[in-house]
Amino acid sequence: MTAPLPAPTMTIAGRAVGATAHLDAIDPATGEVIAAVPDCAREQLDEAVAAARHAFPAWAATPLLERQATLRRIAGVLAQNRDPLAALLTREQGKPLAKAAEEIMAAAYWCAEIAGLDPATRTVADTAATLVQVRRVPLGVVGAIVPWNFPVALAFFKLAPALLAGNAVVLKPSPFTSLTTLRIGELLREVLPPGVLNVVSGGDALGPWISAHPGIDKVSFTGSTATGRRVMESAAPTLKRLTLELGGNDAAIVLPDVDVDVLAPVLFWGAFANSAQFCLAIKRLYIHEAVYDRLAAALARLARGTRVGAGDQPGVELGPVQNRPQYLRLKNLLEDSRRHGHRLLAGGELPESPGLFFPPVLVDNPPEESRVVQEEAFGPILPLLKFSDVDDAVARANRSPYGLGASVWCRDEARGLAIAHRLEAGTVWVNEIHTISPHKPMAGHKQSGLGVEQGLEGLLEYTLPQTVSLKRAPA
Ligand code: NAD
Repeated sequence: MTAPLPAPTMTIAGRAVGATAHLDAIDPATGEVIAAVPDCAREQLDEAVAAARHAFPAWAATPLLERQATLRRIAGVLAQNRDPLAALLTREQGKPLAKAAEEIMAAAYWCAEIAGLDPATRTVADTAATLVQVRRVPLGVVGAIVPWNFPVALAFFKLAPALLAGNAVVLKPSPFTSLTTLRIGELLREVLPPGVLNVVSGGDALGPWISAHPGIDKVSFTGSTATGRRVMESAAPTLKRLTLELGGNDAAIVLPDVDVDVLAPVLFWGAFANSAQFCLAIKRLYIHEAVYDRLAAALARLARGTRVGAGDQPGVELGPVQNRPQYLRLKNLLEDSRRHGHRLLAGGELPESPGLFFPPVLVDNPPEESRVVQEEAFGPILPLLKFSDVDDAVARANRSPYGLGASVWCRDEARGLAIAHRLEAGTVWVNEIHTISPHKPMAGHKQSGLGVEQGLEGLLEYTLPQTVSLKRAPA
């Protein structure tokens, strides 16, 4: 039994706000309740939105240079607090401590890099008769809704561009992982003017209140496709702007010319990093029959050798699954594979433990229509799928309602690129994976999303174009 954590508070109008009701924060490695998370009441959300609306005009009028400097200060605060924030993130999310520290530093890096962007005014015409310019103006109040797999990084994918563009924000973490985000809200009270960033936490009612709130101009949502649809519905009456980053079922296609020994660990971590709770994880691995057996055997060795355990223990490579509903979903998917007689090349035995440990599972060439292939597992179960004809592999990869990411593995670069161009996904990697960056736009195709995050394109989603057209006085 470890010491209870200090009571976290929400941040509304720059002040600490508690709540009358609370949710349990649970450590997924032990099943212990570690803190009481404020359950935001409807009136408190209204206060947060009002505070954001109040703060918006002055923040929007703050010179870009100053907003850029503020983002750099935020990066500094995150970096200075890396260790305590990482410890808290490991405790609530489960990931290994080193990975939690990487996530905090990724958020800091994002702020520092986005601070270098400029949603500049574009001059369309500048003649003796007229001056026509397209300005990029902030939207107002942004509601940012975040899932539990990378609670901090995904929050800053939204916060950094929203704040740089001059918006005020109401940020809501997942009820499963609120603690680190609330703590960051507390730290940033010293950095941002009151009301520019409000952090609220709560249960299942809070997200729908945000996506329907008449005082919110845009919702930037990362989560499942099913929830994304509900967000879109509830945003319709007020015609909110939306960015939706949703689920995926990413395919990787491995051609026969690869070096199996070099590639196996890259593919393994491309699938299982963060206990495979990764929107862009490899979720269907199509392997050419010429290298299938060798690659499958190498992956199985890696799966068996991976240390799964509590994220704060030295040497642990994969933490627990983050929450019980997700653990039960995965268990159900595993049972479905067993029922259908799929052969498992690794994993499948779940340890008796109060922690939600789920060692990596490899499923040997299950039928294409099986649930483990068609559904987004979002956890450590990976189907290995054999193909003999690359056109067939491309067709199977594309036969999905999702279109988030994909990858091609092939020594012949021209061939790799040609295959990449045929894949229906917003991001396609060739001979690398997960090289995401604040400068590479990421847009889910098909039912993996709406709009784009990252890069100048992502920043512009936190602005509206305003065309200003001037008729010049005769000379
Ligand atoms: P989820 O959709 O259950 O929840 C995401 C967030 O939405 C949480 O904060 C939740 O409280 C909130 N929410 C729930 N119902 C809501 C509603 N009706 N209106 C508004 N908000 C609501 O997703 P999750 O289980 O937390 O995360 C896993 C999913 O997220 C996976 O499908 C994964 O692929 C996806 N994801 C996508 C990306 C991406 O960039 N495309 C990144 C990470 C995760």
